[in-house]
Amino acid sequence: MKNKKNYFIKWAFCFLLVGLLSFCLSGSFTGSSEVQAATSNSANKRFTGWKTSGGKKYYYKNGKKLTDLHKIGKYYYCFDSNGVMMTGWNRIHNRFRYFGKQTGRMRISQTVNGRKINSKGVWTPVVVLDPGHSAVVASGYEPLGPGSSELKEKDTSGTEGVATHVEEYKLTLDIGLQLRTLLQKRGFKVVMTRTNSNVALSCIDRANVANKAKADAYIRLHANGSDSPYDNGAMTLCTTRNNPYTTSLYRKNKALSEAVLDSYVAFTGCRKEYIWETDTMTGNNWSKVPTTLIEMGYMSSPTEDYRMQQPSYQKKMVWGIAAGIEKYLTNF
Ligand SMILES: [Zn+2]
Repeated sequence: MKNKKNYFIKWAFCFLLVGLLSFCLSGSFTGSSEVQAATSNSANKRFTGWKTSGGKKYYYKNGKKLTDLHKIGKYYYCFDSNGVMMTGWNRIHNRFRYFGKQTGRMRISQTVNGRKINSKGVWTPVVVLDPGHSAVVASGYEPLGPGSSELKEKDTSGTEGVATHVEEYKLTLDIGLQLRTLLQKRGFKVVMTRTNSNVALSCIDRANVANKAKADAYIRLHANGSDSPYDNGAMTLCTTRNNPYTTSLYRKNKALSEAVLDSYVAFTGCRKEYIWETDTMTGNNWSKVPTTLIEMGYMSSPTEDYRMQQPSYQKKMVWGIAAGIEKYLTNF
């Protein structure tokens, strides 16, 4: 009898409590389950804070995932279009920024991977573009590498389109200038070895422009020629692992050559040849910065020669090289 009475009192108390709670939360009396659903829904809608799912980090503001760049507390963070927190080097609205690998915090006023980030959190990569050859050819000979007794021609006249008769130096300058415009738009600082075809530049002169600018990437633009009209496609050239002049740059030169060739082929759809590792290129040997030389296609192939003069194809060439440079630079 005593137990039953206690039981009844407990339940009566519970009901009273729930009723009171409901009244307080809703302002008027409704069923307790309805109130519970309503409050948890609006709590979801109002949720603000970090969530981790599947190893990915998200930030919610009033129940919505953030995308893009935001200041949260003391730091800036960036979230991709799916709301995933970004890390490492990224180009955000055409500015290069670094976000901590673990924390995702944007770095400001410091040096990361030897790259200076300014007070606005921006790093400006320097790219030197070298449109191969010129209408005025540098005459004479120069050493194959620093300290080398082997001499090579300072420059050559380059090749010419078998069908269009456009000279290689015109094509390389054309692509070089378009590439400069695109890269500048994307937050790069661009230095050209030449902007017209009335200058004579040796391969060492060209490399020195890149060295002086302390380029993050030095891109040499060329087009190929062959005895066979059937040869087509693109390749990149870099120094070998055993290059006596630029040993420490091998890994970077190879990575840059790989990224540029892969992206170029992906954008243009041209045939992928290979990365030619060679120590016979004066311009590569004298370069103290990461360097690649791209042969963008064969001017000896009538089809490829015509294609490389089409504005729509040139756009793909330019986008491909730009994407490759960016892939190399952000892959740290
Ligand atoms: Zn060439």
